[in-house]
Parts: sequence; structure tokens; C-alpha cells
Amino acid sequence: MTKPSFHKNKVIAHRGAWKGINTSQNSIASLKQAIALGCYGSELDLHMTSDSILIVNHDITWGGLNVQKSTLAELRKTPLSNGEPLPLLEDMLKIIKNQTGTKLILEIKSSDRGREWANATVKKIVNAIRDYKAQEWISYIAFDYEICKEVLRLNPSADVQYLMGNKAPDQLKKDGIKGADYHYSVYQSKPEWIQQAKQLGIILNAWTVDKLEEMQWLLNRDIDMITTDEPEMLFKELERRKK
Ligand code: MG
Repeated sequence: MTKPSFHKNKVIAHRGAWKGINTSQNSIASLKQAIALGCYGSELDLHMTSDSILIVNHDITWGGLNVQKSTLAELRKTPLSNGEPLPLLEDMLKIIKNQTGTKLILEIKSSDRGREWANATVKKIVNAIRDYKAQEWISYIAFDYEICKEVLRLNPSADVQYLMGNKAPDQLKKDGIKGADYHYSVYQSKPEWIQQAKQLGIILNAWTVDKLEEMQWLLNRDIDMITTDEPEMLFKELERRKK
């Protein structure tokens, strides 16, 4: 495997690129489509099952079951709407390691089972990334600040970005967090954070930006990354701006 040289665009496909091809979110098909589109990143959501398997799913429930309190076999009784079985982190790592353009943006979901479970989940994820030698392909994101800090405790050089939107860039810098990945309305109400982040070298990412005028507002302020359900729309706008 040659050294990765990731695409230099601002596009992160939210739960993969699924909308344009009418496939399931957080699926192998949506990850492959994000890669095919040439996105800088493809985001997905992670939980750990009761039998300690890392699975890709957004909600705390799947098929009527709590994903952190059910086994993989129980959860896999319900396939995705595109027919795939509920994907594992491992499935996604195999795909992402087989190419060098697109990063995997791993959202570690908050724990429904307390701090110990959250820490066990983080440890399992960080170890999996290390075992796959996939560190360069990965950014970690989380709403739970303690999860962000736990990733850094286990891997101090990890690219960790915080989602909640309630910490100023200087606080992130102090805690070793490389990026603010905030809802776009946070930047609109605190535009001074954009300048502060740029001065401190904090990466700026915004979610989930699906309208052209919101993309334009962020691009006009040179936000580093935009997480969107509409990657094709964002690519089109980026192309238009080059002309
Ligand atoms: Mg997510």
C-alpha cells in the first residue's frame, strides 16, 4: 500500500453518500459511493454490541433492539433497507484501507451504559484502528467530550474533533482536540470562533449542511470541511467557485 494522499476537498459524506444513489445510510454501499465520488471523508456512526462487536448504526436502537444491549446475531436479524447485513467497523476498515483518497470519519456514539462502557468502546475502536494500521485514514468525532479525551489518552496523536458546539477553540486546543465539528448554526451565532480557530490551527468542520445557501455561507468563510447528505451538491458548488 502506497502512502495515502487524501483528496484535497472539503466534502464529508454524512453516513456515506447514500441519498444520490438511493441506498441505505451507514452502509457499505454508501461508503463505496463516497469513495467513488472522491469525497475527502465518509462519516459513519459506531456502537459496541453486548458481545463487544463494533457495529455501524446511527440510532441507539435497531430493529426494535437497543444496540448496546443486544448481540450481533440478534441485531443482524434485521438487514439494512438495501439488503446488506448490519455492517461492522471491520467491514468498513477493509474497504477504506484498500484506497488512499478518502478518510473515514468515525463518530463514537454516546454510551447508553455508563462511562465504563463508553471507555471499553473507545478502547476497542482505537485498538481495531491500530491493528488495521489505519490510523492515517481515521478522524474521530464525538458529542461526548470525555470520549474525545479518552481517544487521545489511548492515542495522543489521533485526529479527534468535537461535535457538541459548546467549547471555544482555545479550550479544544488546550485539550489536544484538533477540530471543531459543530452544527453550522454555531458558527453563524459565534463567527468569532471561526477566526479564533484559524489562528490556533483548529480544523473547522460543520454538520449537517444540506442547503446550498448554508454551504455558501460556510465556504465564504473558508470553513475547512462540510459534512453533508448532499455531497454531489457541494462538489458542484466547489466546481462553480473554481471558474
Ligand atoms: Mg454521525
